[in-house]
Amino acid sequence: MTTTRRPDAAAHDALVALDRAHLVHPVAPWRLHEERGPAVLSSGRGVWLTDDRGHELLDAFAGLWCVNVGYGQESVVQAAAQQMRRLPYATGYFHFSSEPAIRLAAKLVEITPASLTRAYLTLGGSDSVDAAVRFIVQYYNNTGRPQKKHFISLQRGYHGSSSTGAGLTALPVFHRGFDLPLPTQHYIESPYAYRHAQGNDPQALIASSVAALRAKVAELGADRVAAFFCEPIQGSGGVIVPPKGWLKAMADAARELDILFVVDEVITGFGRTGPMFACDAEGVEPDLMTLAKGLTAGYVPLGATMLSEKVYAGIADGAPAGTAIGHGATYSAHPVGAAVALEVLRLYEEGGILAHGEQVAPRFAQGLEALRAHPLVGDARHRGLLGALELVSDKASKRGFDASLGLADRIFNIGYRNGLVFRSFGDHILGFAPALTITEPELDQVFLRLRKTLDEVLEARDVRAAL
Ligand code: PMP
Repeated sequence: MTTTRRPDAAAHDALVALDRAHLVHPVAPWRLHEERGPAVLSSGRGVWLTDDRGHELLDAFAGLWCVNVGYGQESVVQAAAQQMRRLPYATGYFHFSSEPAIRLAAKLVEITPASLTRAYLTLGGSDSVDAAVRFIVQYYNNTGRPQKKHFISLQRGYHGSSSTGAGLTALPVFHRGFDLPLPTQHYIESPYAYRHAQGNDPQALIASSVAALRAKVAELGADRVAAFFCEPIQGSGGVIVPPKGWLKAMADAARELDILFVVDEVITGFGRTGPMFACDAEGVEPDLMTLAKGLTAGYVPLGATMLSEKVYAGIADGAPAGTAIGHGATYSAHPVGAAVALEVLRLYEEGGILAHGEQVAPRFAQGLEALRAHPLVGDARHRGLLGALELVSDKASKRGFDASLGLADRIFNIGYRNGLVFRSFGDHILGFAPALTITEPELDQVFLRLRKTLDEVLEARDVRAAL
């Protein structure tokens, strides 16, 4: 632990008390949080964070897999400040527009797969997914197939936490108490190689996923299925990396089955897996694509729902002439968000950040691969600067750990003490997604601190006893 400034203990305690009393946290156990209190982050530079007690942390998760350009990019701050001075707000409603929103839409159409010709600018990933669902419903209603109302997504998928998106999400905590999934939401198997019967054979795993999609569509009736949603790499479900060719095979199957193919690139977009979009690696041309996170690198909230001309025209031409398509929010197409996104996209391309990310990715892969030999690690998986370790108590049987050990929580806390932040999924998967600007020496630091953390966990008597 390095202390960079003298913490003001009284100010810290006061802030913590206010948080416990008033701030409702997203995706948190509310009462437990009140007991524990928050970790208050106060500043960031590059891949480094400082909390309000002066504790310095190496951020191996880019915030929430979003700060792809690192903290403290002055040109992004300037882009926001300039736009705020000139025009802090302009609605996109009706026929109003703003220059940054127009330029961003054109830029997104230029860089996303060729099938996507229209951009709807949203408030973030959940809003992008919600818009996609609403557009799809409108598309089928407007093109004379109103019975196509069923949606298929993947087990362990994550598509945000809006009222409908959380039902496409297939993680129990997002359903519990929320009356989800809806009767129109269905799941097929995840391409989870490590725990799939066909996991050792990429082609068999792909064939199994395609067969599962076909079977689900047959079960529901092709004339009743609207779309298949997937992440190219499942993020919040545990960084599940399907074999190369999986995404293309699913896209081809969806086309053949006459259902829309929606790729959720909220995490995988903007260089996270290497190319600008994961779709690019396999030449996939989806009907819709959802974006957020890396689009503004987390500096302000903004996302996008990209539409193919077929979907856009189906909606536009099927609506009664002159009638509004009733979807939108006050902050849709926000000019400050759009100005920030344009500068972030410039940094990825002209600023060389995408190329840098690709250059250091092998070091990231080596670091994860080297940890396969650690007694706690059953699997290491990665693509680009997105990766995970899966912890097991027995490598041969792949048995996990009893939830009563609270392993993930303990690892996170020890990691934090060792000056490292990452993310845990369930009780036994650790996820990593550093900024694309991370250097090789900084990556070496990540893995040094991670190994130390895993070794400390291994020293605990109850963990040893579970092995
Ligand atoms: N889709 C995916 C694949 C995501 O990972 C996320 C966020 N983790 C979302 C949608 C929702 O995005 P947001 O949190 O910005 O609403």
